[in-house]
Amino acid sequence: MASLWTFLFLNILGRVIWGFPQRCKPGSYFQGQCRTPPEEKSKCIDIMLTYCKDMPYSTTMYPNLLEQKSRSEAEQSLEYLLLNVIHSVLNWECNPDIRMLGCSIIAPRCEDHKILKPCRSTCESVHKACDHMFESIGMAWPYYLDCDRFFVSEEEGCYDPLEGLREAEESEMDSMPIEESSSVIPFTYHSNKQMFNILIKTAEECSHISRTYSIGQSTEKRDLLVIEFSSNPGEHELLEPEVKYIGNMHGNEIMGRELLIYLAQYLCSEYLLGNTRIQTLINTTRIHILPSMNPDGYELALSEVHRSSDTDDEDAIYTGYAAGRHNAQNIDLNRNFPDLTSYVYNQRRLKYFRSDHIPIPDSYWLGKVAPETYAVMKWIRSIPFVLSASFHGGDLVVSYPYDLSKHPLEKNMFSPTPDEQVFRQLAKIYANAHPTMSSQDTDRCGGKFADKEGIVNGAQWYSIVGGMGDFNYLHTNCFEITVELGCDKFPAEDDLYTGWKENKEALLTFLESVHRGIKGIVKDEDGHGIKGAIVSVRGNRHYVTAAENGDYWRLLTPGTHIVSASAPGYSRVMKRVHLPAHMQTAGRVDFVLKKVPLDPESNEINILHLARYERFDPYNQLDWYYKRESRQTEEERQEKPWWWSYFTQLSNKNPTWLLRN
Ligand SMILES: [Zn+2]
Repeated sequence: MASLWTFLFLNILGRVIWGFPQRCKPGSYFQGQCRTPPEEKSKCIDIMLTYCKDMPYSTTMYPNLLEQKSRSEAEQSLEYLLLNVIHSVLNWECNPDIRMLGCSIIAPRCEDHKILKPCRSTCESVHKACDHMFESIGMAWPYYLDCDRFFVSEEEGCYDPLEGLREAEESEMDSMPIEESSSVIPFTYHSNKQMFNILIKTAEECSHISRTYSIGQSTEKRDLLVIEFSSNPGEHELLEPEVKYIGNMHGNEIMGRELLIYLAQYLCSEYLLGNTRIQTLINTTRIHILPSMNPDGYELALSEVHRSSDTDDEDAIYTGYAAGRHNAQNIDLNRNFPDLTSYVYNQRRLKYFRSDHIPIPDSYWLGKVAPETYAVMKWIRSIPFVLSASFHGGDLVVSYPYDLSKHPLEKNMFSPTPDEQVFRQLAKIYANAHPTMSSQDTDRCGGKFADKEGIVNGAQWYSIVGGMGDFNYLHTNCFEITVELGCDKFPAEDDLYTGWKENKEALLTFLESVHRGIKGIVKDEDGHGIKGAIVSVRGNRHYVTAAENGDYWRLLTPGTHIVSASAPGYSRVMKRVHLPAHMQTAGRVDFVLKKVPLDPESNEINILHLARYERFDPYNQLDWYYKRESRQTEEERQEKPWWWSYFTQLSNKNPTWLLRN
């Protein structure tokens, strides 16, 4: 976004400095101060409009089809400004089609002193393909792209304004080797825009099993864009477990980001090619992938690497703590989550103490909460995630909670959760599916974990406070591991393909491991699911809660477990469960609870706990933050869509025709 503003600003500045003709003020036309330059009258002239220079013709005529009388009038119009920003507003979708369609109206083709009109059929096909994009951002189809009003039929002698584009696309296709054309994945760094573009395109190619959605924006207003894969995108399905992958939390640690961009494309293309493993995975699992949690930091890191790529000191940049680890407010996002772990350590000896669904203390909101952290917390709370991995770089190991040491003076102290065995199993699933992570060779990258088989308790490695992994575990049902993908934080572009080959199997196996342990429905005697019912395992004070329709998932190690389900106002039901080793799907264990008179004491505790748990952002932290940052007034924010400011700040004109209704 920043670069867009810079670009627009320079563009405007350019007009002032180089003295392009200014817009006619009302009345000046009649005073003779603003006559249309004679060379632009009634004959074909060169187009000379920056955003229309790739049209399949080179001359136009004024007045154009919008009755704009000169190039300068066209250039300063809101209609032309729209062409300038439309690729950003639409996230590179329908690009350059919309722009070129607009050019065919603002700078129509001129031949033999006559204006030719563009074809209605072209307009209609673009309208059909792109209208939903406009709809999705609440923008009306631009009035001057009205196919009936400004475009004509072939009988009336129209021309195809996208003709050049089609030819270019076709020749590009011709030059591509046939065997590669179906699923070529380029192994290069991806800018934020390229990443957004790929995710949106991928979701569109696989629209029956995929969609993208944004969980919020970074400090510099870049979208935190998630791509989702599921047999029913956008919906939680009963008993279908949900899993997430998060990359690039530290902006300068890029391997995870790139792996997740490849993974999204791989899942889509393999599904379409009929790969039964991928089809089974997607048909039984809802997968959410956030390749970049810190797009602002990445931008900074990438520019630093580009700047240093000519010097001899490349290695220092790739491996070292290059700029961009933190977000744009200089916050380390993996230290910015609420510290619930200290609370657990303080309370753990109390009788009724639970180490799950710990409310966020109000004091947390008085500190600085990064918009990225905020967005991810909201996301984690809104979906019943079961399993997660966050990808980092700088070492080769999988670490798991707790990340905060149980002793405040010990920085490297083994600090297990009640689910130590489950976490070890999860961490091993990833490390063992990787060719070198769990190797005994001490000379390799990550060699210091050779005796630990490539996995380590986070706090034992080094203690951190406010990490995302501990938050997932203590605040929700989700189990998250942290994967360190290699010793280079910012590996060279040549190493990306190797990284993909090494991690592909591990990425898939880990997703599949969400189908471990047990799952089922907790319902009442009428068969209705009981939301929030507690499922507990004997000897473990970390409970999971049932989702909206009473469905639950509990990751467990093989063996025998005593599992029970309970809810306020219902009886407790207990079951003995045996999970054989190497079980590939979750065992189904349902519970039917009988209504019983409410125990007032336990009910009160529950209500109190729930009320505190529901308290998210009591001070409206993010709102306050954006209010301070933004120059817009509150009314504008509420009334106008987000893209409105693109126009009003640049032109002082209000494009009311772009508002729906
Ligand atoms: Zn990191």
